[in-house]
Amino acid sequence: MNVLEQLAELIFPDVTETVADLEKRYPARDLPEGAIVARFAPSPTGFLHTGSLFTSLIGYRFAKQTGGVFYFRLEDTDTKREVKGSDLDLINQLAAFGVVFDEGFCGEGNPEKGAYGPYRQSDREMIYRTVIKEMVKKNLAYPCFCTSEELSSLRQYQEANKLNPGYYAEHAKCSHLTPEEAIEKIKNGEKYVMRFRSSGCYTNRVKVHDEIRGDLEFAENDQHIVILKSDGLPTYHFAHLCDDHFMHSTHITRGEEWLASLPTHLELFKSMGWEHPKYAHLPVIMKLDNGNKRKLSKRKDEEAATSYFLQEGYPVEGFLEYLITIANSNFEEWRLQNMNANIFDFKLSFDKMTLDGALFDLAKVKNICKERLARLTKDEFTLRAKAYAKQYDANLLELIEKDEEYFKSIINIERERENPRKDYETFGQVYPLIKFFYSDLYDELLNENPLPFNENLNKEDIIQVLNAYNANKGLELSEEEWFNNLKQITVECGFCDNMKVYKKNREAYKGSIADVSEILRVTVSTRKNTPNPYWVLKILGEAEVTRRINKVIEKLEA
Ligand code: GLU
Repeated sequence: MNVLEQLAELIFPDVTETVADLEKRYPARDLPEGAIVARFAPSPTGFLHTGSLFTSLIGYRFAKQTGGVFYFRLEDTDTKREVKGSDLDLINQLAAFGVVFDEGFCGEGNPEKGAYGPYRQSDREMIYRTVIKEMVKKNLAYPCFCTSEELSSLRQYQEANKLNPGYYAEHAKCSHLTPEEAIEKIKNGEKYVMRFRSSGCYTNRVKVHDEIRGDLEFAENDQHIVILKSDGLPTYHFAHLCDDHFMHSTHITRGEEWLASLPTHLELFKSMGWEHPKYAHLPVIMKLDNGNKRKLSKRKDEEAATSYFLQEGYPVEGFLEYLITIANSNFEEWRLQNMNANIFDFKLSFDKMTLDGALFDLAKVKNICKERLARLTKDEFTLRAKAYAKQYDANLLELIEKDEEYFKSIINIERERENPRKDYETFGQVYPLIKFFYSDLYDELLNENPLPFNENLNKEDIIQVLNAYNANKGLELSEEEWFNNLKQITVECGFCDNMKVYKKNREAYKGSIADVSEILRVTVSTRKNTPNPYWVLKILGEAEVTRRINKVIEKLEA
C-alpha cells in the first residue's frame, strides 16, 4: 500500500466499495437517442419558490418532450437552512402544478421511485465517501486542517495585499503537507475537512457551451474547494459532480446564479475523467421595484411562493402558461394560433429561451388566467372550482353543493361561444362575484351596503323605472325582444333609448337606456358590474326579481 492509499484508508476505513462498483450499480440509462435526463434538486428550505417552479417546469418539459426522465433529488446538505417537513411540501406543490417526476425522493418514510437512488443527499454519504477515497488515492483530494482563525487571517492577508481571495496555489497551505504529515495530524486527532486539489490556474481560460447562452469562456478554477465538510456532508459542488454523474443527468437546467461555479464543476468532472453534462443556465425571475430589477423575494413578495397562487385559486394551467411565456419568446405566437390547445403541446427550445432576468408581471398572469378560465366548459369549471373550494374556500363550496346546476347556470353566462366572457381571474374571485345570485346572501349585501346607483338620478325616477319594469319583465322573451321591451319602458319613464341622441341632448331626458339598465342591475345584484343583466334576471327568475325590486323600492322609500 503506498502512502496515499494509507491516508485514504485512515480517513475512510469503512469504505469498501470503489468507484468502479458504483459505475456498475448505476449503469448508463437505456433511453432513445436525444432523450434528456433532467432533475429538480431543491434544498428543503421551507417552500416552493416561483423561480424554482420555473426551473423545474423547464427541466420537466424537456425531459417529457424528448422521451427522457425527470427526477427529484433532495439537496439537504445544508442542515442549518433546512426546514423540517418542507420536503413533502415541495413534492406536493410540484404535483399541484402538474410537475410530476418519474424518479426521486418521495418524502420521509415513503419508498423512493427509481433505480438511481438514494435521491436524498443525506442518504448518499457512502457514495461521496467512496468517490473521495478514490480521489485521495489519486492525489485529487486531501485533508485540510486549517482552523477558522487561520482562514480568516489568510483572507485578511489577501485583502491587504490585493490578492485574489481563497484557498489556492501557495495559499492552499494543507495542499503542501506530505501524506505522511497529514497521517500524523489525523492520528493526533486534529480536525479536518476534505478539499479538492485543483490543478487549474486563474490566468488560463476554459471554454464551455451553454445550451441557452452559447459558447462561454471563463478563467480556469484554481480554488481548492471544500468537498466534504466537517459534519461529513458534501458541499453543493461536489454533490453535483457525484449525483449528476451517477444519476446520468444529461442536462443541468438550473438558475443563472450557478454560472459562476461552472469552472469549478468543469474541473471536477475533468479530474475524475467523467464527461460533464450539458448545462442550461436559466434566467432568474426578477421584479421591478422602484425602477430597479431585483430577485423575487420570499420576505417582500407574496408571489414569490407558489402556494400564494394555489390559495388565491389561480388556474394552474394559466400560471404554468405564464411561466412558459417567460421561458420561450415564440410561445405567445403559438398560443394565438392554438387558443384551446394544452400548453404542453408546445415544444420548448433552448435557443428561444429568454436570456436576461425575466420580469415577473402579475397583471399578465391574471390576463392569461382569465382567458384560460373563460375557455373551460361549465362542467370543467365547476369541477375545478369545487376542488379549489374544498381546500380553500368553504363559502364557495357551500354554494356549489347547495345546488350544482344553479351554480353551473351562473358561471355559464355567455361562456359557450367563440369569444367567451372573461369574468374570473381566479377561483378565489368566484364567491364574491356570484354571491348576489343567492337570496340570503343578497339580503345580507342589501343590508350591509348602500346601493351604488348613479348619483345623478333621483330616487323618484329610480322607483318609477323599477315599478315599470316590475309590471313588465319580459323574462320569457329572447334577449333581443327583451331588450326592445326594455327600450319601451325606458321611453315610458322619460329616459332616452338611443345613446347617440341622448348624448346630443342630455337635458331633454332623465337619463339614458344605459341608466335604466344599470338601475336594474344594481337593484338585483347590489353591484355596478355583473354579467349581462338579461341572463342575470333570467337566472334569478320572475319571483325572485319581483321580491328584490320590491325590497329595493321599500328601502328607497324608507
Ligand atoms: N440545491 C440547489 C439549489 O438550491 C440546486 C441547484 C441545481 O439545480 O443544481 O438551487
